[in-house]
Amino acid sequence: MMLKVLPVGMLSVNCSILVDEEEGKAVVFDPGADAQKIEKELEGFELTAIVCTHGHIDHVGQVRTLKEKFRVPFYLHKADVFLINDPIWPGFEKHIGANLPCPEPDEFLEDGKEIKVGKITLRVLHTPGHTPGLCCLYAQEHSLLIAGDLLFRGGVGRWDLPGGSLEDLKKSLRRVFSELPDDTLVVCGHYEETTIGHERVFNPYLRGLF
Ligand SMILES: [Zn+2]
Ligand SMILES: [Zn+2]
Repeated sequence: MMLKVLPVGMLSVNCSILVDEEEGKAVVFDPGADAQKIEKELEGFELTAIVCTHGHIDHVGQVRTLKEKFRVPFYLHKADVFLINDPIWPGFEKHIGANLPCPEPDEFLEDGKEIKVGKITLRVLHTPGHTPGLCCLYAQEHSLLIAGDLLFRGGVGRWDLPGGSLEDLKKSLRRVFSELPDDTLVVCGHYEETTIGHERVFNPYLRGLF
């Protein structure tokens, strides 16, 4: 397995590219901006899908460009479709480098569903709170979680944007921290990566939650 994490756009969204080197297949997660930079990293691999953790335009902003070029299915949870063309603030899409309109998803992510990257399996965990459709992707054999804006190093996703819910966010965090081992590497939606164990000890937002 090869994982490349590229910070893209003004908001430094972590766009991940997961590659099964044996089969030469790749899946891209959260291609929010900087399509050319992403395409360059995909050179030599066969892109098989585009997966977005949630519908915020900083995470889906270049789905359109990549779909037009590679003609692969786009996955997103149904509950986040209302967000994919909502800039929240007028003109925001231009500042963050999003190419709207974002196309409708071809397939819906659902809790428990599996996404394949060649022989690598990722399980979908539906973890609402930041948005109603936010999903994490968990590769258990590789101790890897692509968490979107559920969790950050020392922080959690904001719950005050349209469709957000603090109650749901707490439930989702409780679930992730009860199901996943401490050595799980967490690729967050923005900024540095972390581990479940590190956040369990040091993240102030999680105090009193378990
Ligand atoms: Zn977000
Ligand atoms: Zn974000």
